Amino acid sequence: MSDARAEFVAEPWGEDRQLVEVLGERGADGFRALLDGFPEPVGVLWAIRDSGEVVDFAFGYGNPAMVNGFRIPPETPNRYTLLEALPRMRGSRAFDGYVDVCERGEPWVSEVTYDTPFGDGYMLGTFLHRAARLGDGVIVFLHDVTASRRMEAELVAYADVVAHDLSAPLAGIALLVKVLELRPDEPPAPDVLQELRATSDRARELVDGVLDYARSGELVLESVSLQDVTDAVAADLRPQLAESGGTLVVGDLPEVRADPRQLRRVMQNLVGNALKFRGEDPPRVEVVAERGRDEWVVTVQDNGIGIDRENARRIFAMFSRLERRVEGSGIGLAVCRRVVEAHGGRIWVEPAEGGGSAFHFTLPFDG
Ligand code: ADP
Repeated sequence: MSDARAEFVAEPWGEDRQLVEVLGERGADGFRALLDGFPEPVGVLWAIRDSGEVVDFAFGYGNPAMVNGFRIPPETPNRYTLLEALPRMRGSRAFDGYVDVCERGEPWVSEVTYDTPFGDGYMLGTFLHRAARLGDGVIVFLHDVTASRRMEAELVAYADVVAHDLSAPLAGIALLVKVLELRPDEPPAPDVLQELRATSDRARELVDGVLDYARSGELVLESVSLQDVTDAVAADLRPQLAESGGTLVVGDLPEVRADPRQLRRVMQNLVGNALKFRGEDPPRVEVVAERGRDEWVVTVQDNGIGIDRENARRIFAMFSRLERRVEGSGIGLAVCRRVVEAHGGRIWVEPAEGGGSAFHFTLPFDG
């Protein structure tokens, strides 16, 4: 969900006369009472017929989750038909699906991904649609599966990476075993053993990283001092700071409502990256927090190699790495994004003034 959408306030649509006709005055009230509070989008579309054929649909009822979720202004039902609001639906499987429900009364279930204007609103995400006939129209229940589809895609990517990264050590082990079998009296060469140690460490890191990622959506929320969390991270990173001759400047940080372990992971990844992706100069990392309108905005800024704008979104995906010369798994920022989003926040990166990167993330106010 985009940030602009979070600020959109749902206003109920006007009375739906057709709903009253289908359900009766009291039935329509009951229907609204039942579905207004439903946590997922529910909408009713009424068939528009031409010579008996369904050619389009008019908007009937839309519950607040629908209206709010897609930022649909209250005047939409008067201004648009379904095909006017979403022209690319014309001739689509989804449109035929609705028509079929209307004509045959058979419920229809499908999955659709949107990233498109919808009348004056905007639809974004992957949704399971369940549609059933209601009067001469359809009632549609949407279930947001965006996060789980993303997770599944990332798991597939994980399987690919793990298969790829583990095939080299497996080949190495197979070779070593062969050598040992051929020369039972000779000890294995130290460099082969060292290689095996390095690759098994790398395998462990990959597995730990993915487990971290898998658990990063589970939160135990409490009031947490971001200052204490950052101090602990600074203590952990002291060797890297000393080795790089770097400085870490920490501003006044607030109390936030968060899971302390997960928040520490976010700070550890961001500050750790700021030291890792350093430029020519000794790294200088600054952590500050600003009070936004509805939330805290935390910034971790560095003077390192920076990130091009075109890669700014990509790096938060699982296994995404731009700088191959530096060791890494490409999991850290994916974990950060998942943790921050699980807290109801957002994370993004911008070029920092004077070079380097500024990572920002938001967290809700405490209390
Ligand atoms: P890793 O650090 O293990 O490679 P991350 O998910 O933490 O994985 O980061 C993904 C990629 O984003 C890095 O490989 C690097 O290319 C880029 N990146 C992350 N942080 C920074 C930074 N502070 N400055 C420049 N590039 C960065």
